[in-house]
Amino acid sequence: SNYRTFYSLRPNVPLPPPSEPLSLIDYALSLLPSTATTNNTPALIDSATDHHLSYSLFLHQVKSLAYYLQSRTSLSKGHVAFILAPSSLHVPVLYFSLISLGVTVAPANPLSSPSEINHLVQLTKPSIAFATSATATNIPNLPLGTILVDSPSFLSMLDCKGEPRRVETSQSDSAAILFSSGTTGRIKGALLTHRNLISLIAGFCHLKHVMESDEDEPHPVSLFTLPLYHVFGFFMMVRALAMGETLVLMQRFDFERMLKAVERYKITYMPVSPPLITALVKSELVKKYDFSSIRLLGSGGAPLGKEIVESFKAKFPNVEIVQGYGLTESGGGAARMIGFEEAKRHGSVGRLAENMEAKIVDPVTGEALSPGQKGELWLRGPSIMKGYVGDDKATVETLDSEGWLKTGDLCYFDSDGFLFIVDRLKELIKYKAYQVPPAELEHVLHANPEIADAAVVPYPDEDAGQIPMAFVVRKPGSNITAAQVMDYVAKQVTPYKKIRRVSFISSIPKSPAGKILRRELVDIALTSGSSK
Ligand code: AMP
Repeated sequence: SNYRTFYSLRPNVPLPPPSEPLSLIDYALSLLPSTATTNNTPALIDSATDHHLSYSLFLHQVKSLAYYLQSRTSLSKGHVAFILAPSSLHVPVLYFSLISLGVTVAPANPLSSPSEINHLVQLTKPSIAFATSATATNIPNLPLGTILVDSPSFLSMLDCKGEPRRVETSQSDSAAILFSSGTTGRIKGALLTHRNLISLIAGFCHLKHVMESDEDEPHPVSLFTLPLYHVFGFFMMVRALAMGETLVLMQRFDFERMLKAVERYKITYMPVSPPLITALVKSELVKKYDFSSIRLLGSGGAPLGKEIVESFKAKFPNVEIVQGYGLTESGGGAARMIGFEEAKRHGSVGRLAENMEAKIVDPVTGEALSPGQKGELWLRGPSIMKGYVGDDKATVETLDSEGWLKTGDLCYFDSDGFLFIVDRLKELIKYKAYQVPPAELEHVLHANPEIADAAVVPYPDEDAGQIPMAFVVRKPGSNITAAQVMDYVAKQVTPYKKIRRVSFISSIPKSPAGKILRRELVDIALTSGSSK
């Protein structure tokens, strides 16, 4: 038969029966080793302030806040809470507390521009927001208002005496909305259910540690340079807290501060995006700090070249790199490496995660292909999102009737079940591991009175992986410059979405149906010199 499904080679992980009422938080806390509270283990450390939060205090704050919200506000099950705050000790408390109340958390980049915030609020219709005094100003009025997490009154909400009422949660209820542009268009909200996240945690928890567990392993202390609003950081944070590990948070990324934190807190592993690995390979600064506690880097979110892994191994022979691959729409890790043997498969992103199925589909014929053949990766399993919130059209385009998620990534499996990501078929640009949806930038460019037409494509960059590049058609009589185009966009978008390269063109190549021929533009960009 020409029908080929790849199944996970991992032992099947038993999941709770789907009909059993169970929240992500109850499930995560059921895994937490009792020693985490009896040994006074720090759950969270803020590297900027050196504030520690023990597991006992963390659990107390989660309950207190839940009690406060239940008794003093009308926030209740099924509501959405919009969160706009940099990584601080309060953010994981917010996530655990809100999700335990059956509230869906919708966290976004705190640097989002006012128009971006408006769009996210319209999409998710939150009842309440949690923000800082710096980010709150751009949030529109919400039914239950905005709570400032950097205010003294928030601290009192974290320490009130009272037990929250139990909220019964079905696993099919929504736990989080994480933002992603998916395969096309503007940002959408991927709805992840309690079960989506429970199944991912279950997959990880038969490993004692994110690396292959050996007996004399030190207490895992991880440093999160990743934002907690992105699926990678979000999931790794819940996982680490369920396992009783210690998480060190960084509010703002800075390379040298990261090195200082590694030395100071004896970090054992870091979930990272590939640009950080490139920076470690290139940097001389590393020599100034003690990096010897690091045993493992887990890389994901964007492609990591084989060559960079090899240069890294030459410079840091005692540090293992394991790769993982996933999407917001798959709740995170759909494939990963487990253990040092699999980590030797440089260039691969590992094997399919527990309970996950895959197909490699020929983008033209729709035929499911065999090992060694390249096609679009489709995924199916318990961690795949329920759909995009309030966007049935996008949901139907992304999830087929049998539950397959079309990833938009061009991939193949080798005969040992290792997955290789070859290219991206979808529009998405990844600057560092951040999502830059071209359609959003094109929308901004089209609003400029001097621009007749525009298209945005990825341009390869050694440090960032890709940078957003704009092709611009000037209106007759306009002399708008590349610098003016970049400046115009920069004023309206989150900094990582800035256009970093511009080329002027007489017309944008399009298909008869009016679709931008992005491949053609990428080829033009690569063969012609244009102004940076
Ligand atoms: P996001 O939803 O932001 O996690 O973006 C998901 C997309 O990032 C995937 O569809 C891939 O295009 C890309 N991606 C994630 N992890 C990897 C990886 N390990 N290697 C190559 N691309 C990746």
